[in-house]
Amino acid sequence: MYDQDVIERVRAANPIEEVVSQYTPLKNGKGVCPFHDDHDPSFSVSVRKQIGKCFVCMDRAVDVFGFIMMMEKVTFPEAVRILADKKAIKLQELTEEQKKALEKQKRQREILRATAGFYHKQLLEVLDSHAADDDSAKAIEYIQKKGFDKEVILKFKLGMARREGLCDYLIKEGFSETDGIESGVLSAYQGKVREFYEVAIVFPIMVRGEVVSFTGRMLADDAVSKFKHLKGEISYLYNEDVLRDADEVMLCEGPVDTITAEQYGFTAVGILGSQAFKESYLAKFRNVSEVYSCLDADAAGTEGTKKLNDMFFGDIKVIKLPEGMDLNDYFNS
Ligand SMILES: [Zn+2]
Repeated sequence: MYDQDVIERVRAANPIEEVVSQYTPLKNGKGVCPFHDDHDPSFSVSVRKQIGKCFVCMDRAVDVFGFIMMMEKVTFPEAVRILADKKAIKLQELTEEQKKALEKQKRQREILRATAGFYHKQLLEVLDSHAADDDSAKAIEYIQKKGFDKEVILKFKLGMARREGLCDYLIKEGFSETDGIESGVLSAYQGKVREFYEVAIVFPIMVRGEVVSFTGRMLADDAVSKFKHLKGEISYLYNEDVLRDADEVMLCEGPVDTITAEQYGFTAVGILGSQAFKESYLAKFRNVSEVYSCLDADAAGTEGTKKLNDMFFGDIKVIKLPEGMDLNDYFNS
């Protein structure tokens, strides 16, 4: 097991065009395929994407590690080692401490996934049974008001939190209260364990298909704020997995507008939290050719749009909503 940072350093030190040309000469990114009896140059390399593919004998493109794995008939760790040796990069196995940190992160992700599953099932049950208790009625009313259909509820794994139930569920699933508190879904308050989301519609935030956090719309009359994010710095966009292969994308405010846009057939991502769009998010858009910003038509939205435009160097298109509306209002009106 190697540290991801080291793997990335090995990758950066071994450009695929350089590695491939040690096995087959490349001309304008093309060469005779080393994997089949080739006479025309069928193997081509994309320097920009750092991948290579033979159009005759390969279904999928490979990166530099995949190429070495095929060429040398070795496993992934062995391929990393071969390429590291070429550049005299020292590979170190993870330290005990790093392994522990990784284990802990894995455990946290498991809790978040279990929590998302629990909340999601609960919401589906409430919607199906038209449960009449106060909290259920609030959840049903919210979903109806936003106009979310079943398809997006399933796709985005929307959930519902009551005042209790999660804690018992997590313990039943083999987690401890401490696990729950560390992951943020439970909190210790005056010696009592409470749930972080009490009466809320809960939106799991997924990255590479994994639940990494939550944001929740609080529904109780005594709720202090409308939206509550799980503790910790927000370093992702809502629904950001679509950025990997979307050509055009709508940039919205928060999960509700994002889901609404998706429900109406657009590809959308949402900015989470009040800190707005961060410089570090720009890299996530490198494969996207057209970005449409669609923030709320209010003072904050106008300000946010101006900032976005600066950050994208003017390379975005702005969708203007009628005064005072957000995207969800617009589609529902
Ligand atoms: Zn081939």
